[in-house]
Amino acid sequence: MGKVLIIGAGGVASVAIHKCVQNSEVFEEICIASRTKSKCDELKAKLDGGKTKITTAQVDADNVDELIALINKVKPDLVMNLALPYQDLTIMDACLATKTHYMDTANYEPKDTAKFEYSWQWDYKERFEQAGITALLGSGFDPGVTGVFSAYALKHYFDEIEYIDILDCNGGDHGYPFATNFNPEINIREVSANGRYWEKGEWIETKPMEIKREYNFAEVGQKDMYLLYHEELESLAKNMPGLKRIRFFMTFGQSYLMHLKALENVGMTSIEPIEFEGQQIIPLQFLKAVLPDPASLGPRTVGKTNIGCIFKGKKDGQDKTYYVYNVCDHQECYKEVGSQAISYTTGVPAMIGAAMILTGKWVKPGVYNVEEFNPDPFMEELNKWGLPWVEDFNPVLVDELPVEEKE
Ligand code: NDP
Repeated sequence: MGKVLIIGAGGVASVAIHKCVQNSEVFEEICIASRTKSKCDELKAKLDGGKTKITTAQVDADNVDELIALINKVKPDLVMNLALPYQDLTIMDACLATKTHYMDTANYEPKDTAKFEYSWQWDYKERFEQAGITALLGSGFDPGVTGVFSAYALKHYFDEIEYIDILDCNGGDHGYPFATNFNPEINIREVSANGRYWEKGEWIETKPMEIKREYNFAEVGQKDMYLLYHEELESLAKNMPGLKRIRFFMTFGQSYLMHLKALENVGMTSIEPIEFEGQQIIPLQFLKAVLPDPASLGPRTVGKTNIGCIFKGKKDGQDKTYYVYNVCDHQECYKEVGSQAISYTTGVPAMIGAAMILTGKWVKPGVYNVEEFNPDPFMEELNKWGLPWVEDFNPVLVDELPVEEKE
């Protein structure tokens, strides 16, 4: 049915490529291009020989001209941006110049400021409309499936959704005292930033990890979770009519938090360049180099993830609650595609988002977040491609839990 150019060959890209190859009816041809071409070649060597034709290329995705030349050579129907958030705008520029559809899994973030927001990418809306091409933003799990869950809840179960809590639980254990499950630089920037949630039209800022709750997650058990800012809060606050509050919670173990605090206290999580033996280095990038590569965690991670959304709102004048979530087993993912569940839960929705565009189900000129499309075909594909979802019509709400806030 179509041809995609995939940029990036890391943890998420590896899963997405495995899944594209499984879905060869839709993905007839893929070109894997990244900064380090050997990683693309390794993936090709592993997955070649089936119905999907695979080629590879080297590209520096910070360079728009290089990207344009590559897109003109490959002539894909869609570019899947599975590199880092820093490359979103250059890849969008190249898609505009070549009139090629675009998708990603994370919003743009400048390298030198730990600040992520959609405004930069939403600014492309008119230009994408005029070029007649679609940009699908944030088609991973969170953001991604959490937005699709929200659109699905609104379409099928509510007249109005007033409250959304997104709960991201990783009950996995990799056996290291400290490691991150995806790109350490991106992960640490996210969790060391101030927390933020949206209530009655305003953003309320908290200190990092200031608000803590415990939740008993299905198939995982009781976990501590902390309020974080997460990018889908921005798009859902805008796109869900009548919303009064939206928050995001993620679970962290005590060992992770203790190490993070110590690393912060000694300055290792800073993104300010420092002089070291005649060279400028960024402490966080150095830390990334000494931490375990997230890709190496796959074989040693056991346990499950549980990610989902709890909704509270009104249907036919009555109060209503609804919880929809997915449970994913780290070892099952590893057996299937050689990666742990964090990459799996992002790579599968990336493939599905791409399939939505290639099959014409989600084609609409402009720049859109996942919740702005019909959720039904995406929800069907989740069940089909390894991320089945579970519904609970009588969930325990986060606000019914004891409140524990750090001083
Ligand atoms: P990795 O670090 O494992 O992989 C990133 C890949 O991008 C690497 O292959 C890297 O190349 C390549 N890359 C980086 N810079 C460039 C460049 N300038 N030009 C070309 N290629 C480049 O990251 P992940 O796979 O863990 O994450 C990928 C994306 O997914 C990130 O944007 C992340 O934020 C997002 N994500 C989204 C989630 C969601 O649920 N929505 C959850 C988890 C992640 P090299 O090998 O040379 O370094």
